[in-house]
Amino acid sequence: MNKIKKYYIIIPIITAILSLIVMVVTSINSKVVNKGYSYFTEDLNSNKISTVIVDTSPKMTVILNSGDKYSTDNPHTDTLKEKLLLNGIEVKDETTPPISKTIPSGILGLSLFAIVAMLVYKSKGGVSSVTSMEMQDFSKDKKAALNFDAVAGNEEAKESLMDVVDFLKNPEKYQKYGARMPKGVILYGDPGTGKTLLAKAVAGEAGVPFYALSGSDFVQVYVGVGAARVRNLFKKAKSQGKAVIFIDEIDAIGKARGNGKNGSSNDEKDQTLNALLTEMSGFGQEEGIVVIAATNRLDMLDKALLRPGRFDRHIEVALPDVNAREKILSLHLKNKPHENIDIKDIAKKTVYFSGAKLESLVNESAILAAKDNSDYITYDHIENAYSITLAGHEKKERSYLKEEDKLLTAYHEAGHGLVNMLLLPQDKVSKITIIPTTKGAGGYTLSIPEDTNYHRIDYLKNKIKVSLGGRAAEEIIFGKDKISTGAHGDISQTTDIALKMVTEYGMGETLGLINLSSVGPLYSSYGNSVIEECKNIVNDLYNETLKLLNKNRASLDKIAIELLEKETLHEDELNKLV
Ligand code: ADP
Ligand code: ZN
Repeated sequence: MNKIKKYYIIIPIITAILSLIVMVVTSINSKVVNKGYSYFTEDLNSNKISTVIVDTSPKMTVILNSGDKYSTDNPHTDTLKEKLLLNGIEVKDETTPPISKTIPSGILGLSLFAIVAMLVYKSKGGVSSVTSMEMQDFSKDKKAALNFDAVAGNEEAKESLMDVVDFLKNPEKYQKYGARMPKGVILYGDPGTGKTLLAKAVAGEAGVPFYALSGSDFVQVYVGVGAARVRNLFKKAKSQGKAVIFIDEIDAIGKARGNGKNGSSNDEKDQTLNALLTEMSGFGQEEGIVVIAATNRLDMLDKALLRPGRFDRHIEVALPDVNAREKILSLHLKNKPHENIDIKDIAKKTVYFSGAKLESLVNESAILAAKDNSDYITYDHIENAYSITLAGHEKKERSYLKEEDKLLTAYHEAGHGLVNMLLLPQDKVSKITIIPTTKGAGGYTLSIPEDTNYHRIDYLKNKIKVSLGGRAAEEIIFGKDKISTGAHGDISQTTDIALKMVTEYGMGETLGLINLSSVGPLYSSYGNSVIEECKNIVNDLYNETLKLLNKNRASLDKIAIELLEKETLHEDELNKLV
């Protein structure tokens, strides 16, 4: 429906073009040669003229008995017409242009007006303004309908959503018992974990239309536009009877107001949020409309959204564990030719990968296999795709790299790798490379992180040391005044871990077992001392890292030199060196 509306604007564009063509063609046809006035008087005197056409222009058109045409200056004397008529010459007065000329220009004018009007209407937030709205009618288009089979893992979420599907299919059943089914469901969890997929599957399983929109589409510069869009969306959904409305990034409109950090309220956001809440309380149980919203963080949402009768069912969609990863990989490999791929092994290596990242890993492997003209996707393709997904594509053109820069990168990466191997042997280093990537890294070290839900304090400290290993190696080899910007990403990672230790995990002195964000507006009084403590933690760990690398200088040199030669080192090669 929306699609057709979107293309209405084509009609005035076509009519405008057609009328322009007609105008150009007729004006070309009516082009005649111009001749001097003396020719005209000569022709007049020798009775060669049959017709003269005069209009408002300074020229008049002369048609001879022979059929030839030319134009000449119109002297605009009062006597001319009389003289012509007396000579038996027909005089056509076209001071008002003929209909054949006015129609095309009229149509052109109307078309241009229609185009402008449509564009204005669109930008003002009319029905068709929600251009990014996706609408799929699974009640008609049964083939496109996804079901829960398309979602691997996420068993708890699926089970919880099964109720919603049943409710959409048989609302009467629940009414009979006076049960209040959720009007709103919030799916929360990391990006790419399959929230959109689940919402689509709910609509698909229930066979009802699916409307999808992103919260950021509602937030507009003009106050009131977002609210109008919300009302519009619900109007459309209601006209279909049953429906699933999916709002991605609900936090864009439903972020908690003034939680101490920025007290400023935003009129447009509030109006949009209120419109959403009003619409949700406006439809009854019997209507069979369920709103599913997605967010990365449940704790960021305005409490008003979460009250009973609104989004009162909250379902976590977590990152897949090793079994779920295996299922997701199998699902996406199912229709792709592959051979000798140990899916279990890849599942083990892809700790913290979301479903979307796994899908992209499989897709990237398929692309590599196609480029190789290989009959199958092989383990090598997956291996290469793994690096690409984590670090980006290798830069092919690297002749511009200076030797001294390569040396710096080699020692930097060797530092990460060596500290990792020495302190966190359980986090296997699978690859170190000094080939720059298109994502901007000079090189990188890949390790497979521990697959658990919680980490111990010594693990976190060692993680920080691994991160600092790059900078520490640079300092040891090249001196303090030759350190580089290469540690930029490492430093933000380090800061992140240290901050979390002190403010969230209760591992610091300043706050003890207090969580910083829970103390609300009071938090600012702790800001400086928290930063001071983090700085000390990181500084101490950095000094320990320097010591560790100095003690193992021989291994550091070996890895760096080998890296310079081979550019990339894998797990087995590294184990031989250290
Ligand atoms: P989210 O909405 O949580 O950001 P999406 O639902 O958009 O994530 O997931 C993006 C893509 O990742 C999906 O289209 C699908 O290909 C893949 N994907 C994510 N999770 C899963 C899963 N559990 N099973 C299968 N594929 C998944
Ligand atoms: Zn680094």
